[in-house]
Amino acid sequence: MLVLGIESSCDETGAAIVKDGRYLLANVVASQTEIHERYGGVVPEVASRQQLAAILPVIETALQQAHCRWEDIETVAATYGPGLAGSLLVGLTVGKTLALARDLPFLGVNHLEAHIYANWLRPTPDAATPDADLQSGANETECAYLPGDPLFPLICLVVSGAHSELVLMRDHTDYLLLGRTRDDAAGEAFDKVARILGLGYPGGPAIQRAARLAEEELRQQRLPVRNPYRLPRAWLRGTYDFSFSGLKTAMLHLAEGLVADQQSGRPLPSGGRQVSRYTTMGSEAARRGQVHIGLLAAGFQEAIVDVLAVKTRMAAQEYHVRQVLLAGGVAANVALRARLEEELTPLGIRLQYPPIEFCTDNAAMVAAAAFFHRLHGEEHDLDLDVEPNLSLPFRQE
Ligand code: ATP
Ligand code: MG
Ligand code: FE
Repeated sequence: MLVLGIESSCDETGAAIVKDGRYLLANVVASQTEIHERYGGVVPEVASRQQLAAILPVIETALQQAHCRWEDIETVAATYGPGLAGSLLVGLTVGKTLALARDLPFLGVNHLEAHIYANWLRPTPDAATPDADLQSGANETECAYLPGDPLFPLICLVVSGAHSELVLMRDHTDYLLLGRTRDDAAGEAFDKVARILGLGYPGGPAIQRAARLAEEELRQQRLPVRNPYRLPRAWLRGTYDFSFSGLKTAMLHLAEGLVADQQSGRPLPSGGRQVSRYTTMGSEAARRGQVHIGLLAAGFQEAIVDVLAVKTRMAAQEYHVRQVLLAGGVAANVALRARLEEELTPLGIRLQYPPIEFCTDNAAMVAAAAFFHRLHGEEHDLDLDVEPNLSLPFRQE
């Protein structure tokens, strides 16, 4: 079954054509990152206008790339929530209109289910251009990507820009909520902390890069690559819930201290022999305090990854699953992938995550999720409206 998927929940406009929920014929994404970079985050009003400008060209390009005619498409699917109302409206309206015009079944897709179903997509040989940021050994962990359908029951860690949830899936489209964030989402924490550190937007890739560069710098200086910044972890023991706002506040205080030290000419920063060795190493980067920013970024990344990985492993053990999936933008994080691998491999639990280009927002994952709903004959009426606060359809137990 060929599904045309449309994604417009935030600041990416996507169209994709996917066969049987797995095989990619085309995947086109127009990103607005460069526009929102200026503001340090997504401006909803701007995002919806850009969606409007991009949507039709993106869909046309996808059809061309797939060498598809309209007659080949069997279902139209579009994200209807969660996300920004104005942005969602663009893709949903276009999707419903196309379905009506072509007399095709229409399916509204939950964006979070789509992130999960990115794990069913097979990588395409020519789309596998590695992110420049992930060169230099970092994409070694990409090898852990095993093509093939995930096996139930499984634990899925959904970590995206606005959500952080630990979910048990016993079957297709069957979700049991085990835990969720009580404040910031993981991606949101990455974005806010990157802003605090002056690393730009989007924060996840920026923090990953800064952390890696700082660690490389230390290696070059033959200094120990042990991070002097030890940041707090909110374990919330006895639950699978997360909390990242305390970590964010700790980062704010540390960063403020760093700036104050720089301004007053005090050595950077206080906190042990190892740190003072870094400050006396005299390199250009160290003088500018960049290594310290990078080490702060690394300390933050380590703290967030630690909690996510340990709680996910505990859930996998409690529910006796053989497989763990990662989903959402933060699933692109190399440290998270590596740390989870470390937790799970000794237990014989298989970790799977989508290739980088399917972790952040795209329409291929929307088409994939739609396929598994269509298998049960599901479709939506054309009066389906956007649901900006939609959550995963959790089962009650
Ligand atoms: P949601 O899916 O919850 O509605 P969203 O669609 O805005 O939110 P995604 O597109 O899934 O979020 O992911 C974007 C988020 O992923 C951003 O917060 C970004 O910082 C984060 N992210 C992207 N790459 C990385 C990375 N390498 N490391 C950590 N975080 C990353
Ligand atoms: Mg985005
Ligand atoms: Fe998303």
